[in-house]
Amino acid sequence: MSDQNPEHVFDAIVVGSGISGGWAAKELCDKGLRTLVLDRGKDVKHIKDYPTAMKAPWEFPHRGRLPLKVLEENPIAARCYAYDETAAHFFLKDKDQPYIQEKPFDWIRPDQVGGKSLMWARQTQRWSRYDFEGPGRDGFAVEWPFTYDELAPWYSYVELFAGISGNRDGLDTLPDGEFLPPWEMNRAEQSMRQKIEARHRDRNVIIGRCAHLTAPQQIHKDQGRMQCQARHLCQRGCPFGGYFSSNSSTLPWAQKTGNLTLRPDAIVHSVIYDDIKGKATGVRVIDAHTKKITEYFAKIIFINASTLSTNLILLNSVSRRFPNGLGNDNGLLGKYIAFHNYRGNLSASLEGMEDSYYSGKRPCAVMMPNFRNVHRQETDFQRGYMVFFSAGRSGWGHGVPGAQAGGEFKAAIADPGGWGVYMMMQGETIPRESNHVRLSKDQTDPWGIPQLITSVGYDENDERLLKDFLNTGAEMLETAGAKNISVTDTKQAPGLDIHEVGGVRMGKDPATSLLNKWNQLHHCQNVFVTDGACMVSTSTQNPSLTFMAITARAANHAVEELKKGNL
Ligand SMILES: Cc1cc2nc3c(=O)[nH]c(=O)nc-3n(C[C@H](O)[C@H](O)[C@H](O)COP(=O)(O)OP(=O)(O)OC[C@H]3O[C@@H](n4cnc5c(N)ncnc54)[C@H](O)[C@@H]3O)c2cc1C
Repeated sequence: MSDQNPEHVFDAIVVGSGISGGWAAKELCDKGLRTLVLDRGKDVKHIKDYPTAMKAPWEFPHRGRLPLKVLEENPIAARCYAYDETAAHFFLKDKDQPYIQEKPFDWIRPDQVGGKSLMWARQTQRWSRYDFEGPGRDGFAVEWPFTYDELAPWYSYVELFAGISGNRDGLDTLPDGEFLPPWEMNRAEQSMRQKIEARHRDRNVIIGRCAHLTAPQQIHKDQGRMQCQARHLCQRGCPFGGYFSSNSSTLPWAQKTGNLTLRPDAIVHSVIYDDIKGKATGVRVIDAHTKKITEYFAKIIFINASTLSTNLILLNSVSRRFPNGLGNDNGLLGKYIAFHNYRGNLSASLEGMEDSYYSGKRPCAVMMPNFRNVHRQETDFQRGYMVFFSAGRSGWGHGVPGAQAGGEFKAAIADPGGWGVYMMMQGETIPRESNHVRLSKDQTDPWGIPQLITSVGYDENDERLLKDFLNTGAEMLETAGAKNISVTDTKQAPGLDIHEVGGVRMGKDPATSLLNKWNQLHHCQNVFVTDGACMVSTSTQNPSLTFMAITARAANHAVEELKKGNL
């Protein structure tokens, strides 16, 4: 190593401190590795740096809304539902990382230590064996290099630590996990479940599974976390640690080992590759404020900057050996990006049940695991979708026809309104080679790093799948007795699902994949990629629990290999 400054030399480097980077840091520190975690964003310490967490609506200058100027300056971030006056400080400003949309793509990014783990919606489901077997069975991508059974113990491992609430439903389409007590369906949802399941034997209606502490166990108390208060103010950061975030959980845990060094405001430019040693030796970092460049060195490097940033860093890591990006001998780096098709939603009203109410603000919806093409190809589109719905009564805003003030109006708004139901899809997309990202040859960001070009779009399969969901959703709402059903295609761009994956996919064959079954670059084995970039396919489930399990598995493998002297 050329740098003699011992302060710049570590056992391991983790790039990114979000959901996956936090897990890498925890595992590596726990196993005794002196670990440097680098994040481009500002530092955010649990509780202390959640400035809006306890504010009442009237304490915000604009009652939670953002001024037009802010929205106009950040048209991309502003498309995210969570970008408001209570949480905008956790989003990267559009101008801080410009990129080129060859096709429309909303790239939603965080701007702090903890990454998107602070703003995420915390829905967490395991993949099923059908999800891992899908690409091999239907031939739409390379085979996953491991099975559900191989990942299952790691799902259990991360679930126990993170704290996942859920019901043990016994479904092979959505395997059970190590659950804390579930949230409850309200009466309208129970009624819908009963009617939909009675009509369709292959469909299951279950309560959502989410990373909230419904009954904290000792392991959560050891993290300093407490029971979820069902405040539904989560994207401001939770001072109770009621939901899982890197800031409340994995990072402070890693800190307590004494092995963690955390550097915020550290923008990783590229991975340093040593042609003579035939391995990566460190990373090049730009200080977000001074633009000073520093190099840090380690035996192993985990890239967890989130899917597209990880692609960007690897594409920008060029050397004599790897002129097209680190590990990119087959030219596939940046290709086979997938995401979730969120375009379809429905709303409707439900009559009756007006003697029934519910309390608290439940942090999850009702779910229907995918029921399309599960065991075999059955439709004119590939793969399927998860359905989410929730029913609720309208609040004081429901109004009284013809009255805007006065006694009748006052009396009416004291009562909850009628029941409404909202239903949405989470559709699997096919990772196509043409859906890709690459680097601009002439445009750079404010730190001199090449801008990313996103070329990711919908295809005919997505349109067919969307049509099927909208028809099927309307039928199910009718079955459930709903009225005034309205059907919407939001036509939102890819990216706004914030579930983008791929570009550095795993696989068995170095000719068709970038990473091996342990998330090591086939051609540079001391570099691990365990965020969404590693994914072969995207399934119909929310992604982050799978990122956690894959990361914990890979980090433990890395430590074993290091001990054996293989890295
Ligand atoms: C509003 C919202 C709702 C969501 N809801 C859900 C949900 O319900 N369920 C679910 O599973 N997922 C959900 N997600 C997605 C989830 O947040 C991501 O899947 C998850 O955070 C990805 O983890 P990660 O570690 O890959 O990336 P992140 O958590 O984004 O962390 C990446 C980190 O890397 C840092 N970084 C980036 N580039 C560099 C660089 N060059 N140098 C140094 N550091 C860098 C970033 O600052 C960031 O801190 C949601 C996201 C949002 C925003």
